[in-house]
Amino acid sequence: MPDCIFCEIVHKRMQSDIVYEDPEVVAFHDINPQAPVHVLVVPRLHIESVQEVTTDQVELMGKMIMVAQEIARKTNVDEGGFRLVINNGINGGQTVSHLHLHLLGGRRMTWPPG
Ligand code: 5GP
Ligand code: ZN
Repeated sequence: MPDCIFCEIVHKRMQSDIVYEDPEVVAFHDINPQAPVHVLVVPRLHIESVQEVTTDQVELMGKMIMVAQEIARKTNVDEGGFRLVINNGINGGQTVSHLHLHLLGGRRMTWPPG
């Protein structure tokens, strides 16, 4: 998708600090981390948001969770706990229109979120 930052990153046309990749999913450190560990788990496929996910992508969504599980282990936040977030649309605080899962860890999170 032209003008999509995350498409640029997953196709390696733009630099990022990649922590995991496979044929379907890429994960890289957030450029503006909100916690000691802040990794974005992104499908290679340009899906704009949760609202655009189709039934044939259910397995891909599950895979993103499994990748998050592995990264939590690799970054040593699995035992202490971590948060997974998907922001959607304007009120959800989504700023990049390419579906992504935030993995945040390494500090105690608060609730409710801002
Ligand atoms: P959203 O607000 O859409 O849920 O999250 C977008 C995230 O992407 C933000 O946390 C922001 O810091 C991150 N981000 C935006 N541009 C870049 C970039 O060029 N590289 C990386 N690594 N992260 C980015
Ligand atoms: Zn994209």
